[in-house]
Amino acid sequence: MDLILLGPPGAGKGTQAKMLTEHFGIPQVATGDILRGAVQAGSALGLKAKGFMDAGLLVPDEVVIGIVRERLLQEDCRAGFILDGFPRTVAQADALQSNLAELGRRLDRVVSLTVDADALVERLTGRRTCRSCGRGFHLTFDPPMVAGRCDACGGELYQRDDDREETIRKRLTVYAQQTAPLIDYYRSAKLLVELDGMQAIPVVQEQVLSALQAG
Ligand SMILES: [Zn+2]
Repeated sequence: MDLILLGPPGAGKGTQAKMLTEHFGIPQVATGDILRGAVQAGSALGLKAKGFMDAGLLVPDEVVIGIVRERLLQEDCRAGFILDGFPRTVAQADALQSNLAELGRRLDRVVSLTVDADALVERLTGRRTCRSCGRGFHLTFDPPMVAGRCDACGGELYQRDDDREETIRKRLTVYAQQTAPLIDYYRSAKLLVELDGMQAIPVVQEQVLSALQAG
């Protein structure tokens, strides 16, 4: 089961990835993690990536592609993988396809979780976080007993920048711009499954699984 999972922040991608990991017994391969892993392991590509990251630069495609390739060759990816955060560009998608072909494999599905911007804003802007212990609350779904105060430690609750409407809308716009070419790419390849990530988690989960089994 070779999968790619796409979705903007707030679409529940992490939750679904975890479910798929357990269901199929395959690893989630998140680009950020494997980049850090390669840097720590001190592999040739890892050291190359480190050079760019230390300089505050984006790690170039060829390095990222090489690191992903190394990761997919590891034993735990034999039965499949869930790619998260890769590919980001059509060039990376092309490289992935030829890398997989060389290994005698092909992608099974690309699952794209979609969100409704207004509904997501409504959901996320209600979040509050404790300044002292970091516990999370939600003004509607999980309100604190005393307004503005943490149930656990009495600390002050605040809204993180990530949960502000402006930040959320900007992220969604950037995501849509970056991902649109990939969505088209995988739609043409007839690999794309689009699911509404705003539904309840178990509903999304069921739809993801049945889309994969239809495969
Ligand atoms: Zn607290």
